Amino acid sequence: MAQTKRVSLLGATGSIGNSTLSLLKQRCDEMPDFKVVSLTAQKNVEALALAAIETKAEFVAIADDAKYSRLKELLHGSDTEVGAGEAGLNDAAARECDTLVSAITGAAALRPTLEGVKQGANIALANKESIVCAGKLFLEAARKFNSKILPVDSEHNAIFQVLDNEKRVEKLILTASGGPFRTTSLEEMKLATPEQAVAHPNWSMGAKISVDSASMMNKSLELIEAHYLFEMPQEKIDVLIHPQSIIHSLVSYDDGSVLAQLGMPDMCTPISYALSWPTRMPVPGVERLDLGKIGNLSFERPDLKKFKALEIARQALEMGSWGPNVFNAVNEIAVEAFLKKRIGFIDITSTTEKVLNRFASNEFGIMTDPVNFDDVFELDKQARRIAEEQIQA
Ligand code: NAD
Ligand code: MG
Repeated sequence: MAQTKRVSLLGATGSIGNSTLSLLKQRCDEMPDFKVVSLTAQKNVEALALAAIETKAEFVAIADDAKYSRLKELLHGSDTEVGAGEAGLNDAAARECDTLVSAITGAAALRPTLEGVKQGANIALANKESIVCAGKLFLEAARKFNSKILPVDSEHNAIFQVLDNEKRVEKLILTASGGPFRTTSLEEMKLATPEQAVAHPNWSMGAKISVDSASMMNKSLELIEAHYLFEMPQEKIDVLIHPQSIIHSLVSYDDGSVLAQLGMPDMCTPISYALSWPTRMPVPGVERLDLGKIGNLSFERPDLKKFKALEIARQALEMGSWGPNVFNAVNEIAVEAFLKKRIGFIDITSTTEKVLNRFASNEFGIMTDPVNFDDVFELDKQARRIAEEQIQA
């Protein structure tokens, strides 16, 4: 008999959420038997209710309170319990489970993900913003509650798979597709529309991460994520453009070996690894890698003048852990403004840089590192407010 793994999923209606659900629904002898505990979504009650019915979830929560009665109605007659709002999300994450998949977008994932940490569950972490804004504190909490962080972000998942001796690491090399504007001139990039920015060449993802990929903010957030997750100084983390997205990242050791994880660009592979860890499970639905057919893999260094985000992220890290906290919050506000066509594409990066520098110059008081999560949330809120003012100005 296969063991049963109780799994909860935050952000069940998104891109990662859908891939996770497809894995949880497949069944075979070599896999653990998954029991879906709770599912959450922000607004889409129809999709959430359908997922709850299909997976026989114990509990569902909708972040938007106004959708609570509609969700109740849709689940009338089923055994699934229903919650709403921030409390509902936290309840969903706090329900006893073995693995909590964190796939909400943005720092909004932090509070509920911490509920999973506090109950000592394994955290299959797709959401990178929570670790960027709460870095050290997040990992300290994970250690304290004996909660294992299993990276789902494909690059970090790749590193996690091939990292066998931290002490002998010379470099972590994060690969990046380069996004839709890899070969676009800076002048053209200034005119980029949200439609062009979300059209990622290799991956189909939510709007926010797609825009982040286009500006290389995504890789910048990932650099910070790697710094915290693998406790690696930023000088030991490189970014390499690899347009085919086949090598998902590499670890370079001091004996000259470089280990990499390869596969077709399909998030089901890293999600399955996190779900089945410490073993592997078969994923029949993922296209197999045929290097003979692909023929060539290519690489180039990132254009740091065109994609300034990478250097700004490194500066943010040098400022202390408050830096990434501010960096992430401002970017979230700027991406939202760009998607609403309130600012141009290039303004995302320049707004982030300007606001970060205003904080660094002590315009809002002497900056110190957050000592607890309340400090993290407070700084996040303040940075969002300043970012909004900056955009309006
Ligand atoms: P998405 O927009 O497709 O889905 C986001 C999910 O979170 C939805 O279910 C939505 O209802 C929910 N949600 C959004 N905002 C919320 C809020 N404020 N409160 C509660 N619920 C909220 O996004 P996605 O592409 O699935 O990405 C999710 C996370 O995973 C992001 O942090 C992203 O960086 C990370 N990630 C995604 C991919 C990918 O391939 N999509 C790859 C690596 C990492
Ligand atoms: Mg990634």
